[in-house]
Amino acid sequence: MRFAISALALSVVINLAAFSAAQARPFPGPDVQQIYNRLLPQIEKIPAFDHHAHPGFADDPDIDAMAAPPNASLPLRTRDDNPELAAAAKALFGYPYADFSPEHAKWLLDKKAELKKQFPGTAYFNSILDKLNTESSVANRAMMPDYLDAKRFPWVFFADSFLWPFNNEHETARNPDEGVFIPLQEKMLHRWMQQENVTKLPAGFGDYLKFISQVLEDNSKRGGIAMKFEVAYFRPTTFSDPTRAQAEDIYQRYVAGGIPSEKDYRTFQDFIFRYLVTEGGRLHLPVHIHSAVGIGDYFNLSQSNIMNLETVLRDPRYASTTFVMIHGGYPLEREAIWLAAMKNVYLDSSFGELAQYPSAFKDTLKMWLETFPDKITFGTDCFPYNQVLGSEESYWLGVQSSRTALAAALAEMVSENEITEPRALELAHAYLHDTAVSLYGGRVH
Ligand SMILES: [Zn+2]
Repeated sequence: MRFAISALALSVVINLAAFSAAQARPFPGPDVQQIYNRLLPQIEKIPAFDHHAHPGFADDPDIDAMAAPPNASLPLRTRDDNPELAAAAKALFGYPYADFSPEHAKWLLDKKAELKKQFPGTAYFNSILDKLNTESSVANRAMMPDYLDAKRFPWVFFADSFLWPFNNEHETARNPDEGVFIPLQEKMLHRWMQQENVTKLPAGFGDYLKFISQVLEDNSKRGGIAMKFEVAYFRPTTFSDPTRAQAEDIYQRYVAGGIPSEKDYRTFQDFIFRYLVTEGGRLHLPVHIHSAVGIGDYFNLSQSNIMNLETVLRDPRYASTTFVMIHGGYPLEREAIWLAAMKNVYLDSSFGELAQYPSAFKDTLKMWLETFPDKITFGTDCFPYNQVLGSEESYWLGVQSSRTALAAALAEMVSENEITEPRALELAHAYLHDTAVSLYGGRVH
């Protein structure tokens, strides 16, 4: 009996020991910095796939299908006086100054002009990707320019403009930001019409839908890998579920002129949005949706809340459409990760790493890595700040912030007994490259 008790006690001790070795703890240990120091150089060696970016020169109007509204308030880190941008220019171009006074800025402009001569055509931006160890980067642009190499800059085109075919007087007048945005949507729709040799909107609704599908198919043939919506800038992201007959009736009433009521316009748009999402499944074109805060003082946070999209994302009719929630719902990234429970829904972390400093972005990544680590992808949302500070510098800031925050998040998880170091590196590969690349059926690498 005595022996039996001892044996039992011994086995309890052994089990407890085994359990405590695997038990996660709430604080990182003193080894966290060393783990970070080991992980970071390995993470820097992983060639990245940038899932969301706007590469191009500052004077190129096709960098986006919309434009920054005038005099918009910018969060601290995204202002062009952020001293980290001098570090970016130093790392990329050997910039010898710590500020951007006009004479110093001229040094950088001259240096870039010299490099563009040295690396003509597509070689210049390819050389930037090489410096960042980015294998390829999405170019989310209105149209592709001849100075980006399509093999390394796969195109993601914009699909919003199909939602604004009617008289937009009311839409444009709503506030100064819409006064900038909506005319650019009209221009984009006009460009798609030119592409398809359509001189005016089709008289019949069925033909309008055919025109939309034709643009999607042609864009796919021209290298487009996904369609992007930035619809949250233009209207609320709550989408009702109207019938085709309802949409057709509205189209027939306004295609030749007249100003639709807001209710009618929304109903029509809700149908077109769902049509595009369905076509994204049929044509294997993943659907990228801006799902975060946006620039411009009139951007409405509550009307663009990522959770508005839940009814669409969890609708089994769209199970064959792949969704990428661009910017991961920021600042609602905690809610957003639970949408990735859907097999066809992924999150992109771009902009989060620019809007936040790495210390805060690290916490976002850690929470995502602890929830659905196989559903999250890396992106920078790089964009030219001005003529001097281009998408090059913002690429650098995005890449550096993401790699350091990722190493820090994983180091904490290792130190807190959540994962092993080899597993940490697997998760890093998935986030920086593999998960996003897997969504495009071999069309990107
Ligand atoms: Zn963007």
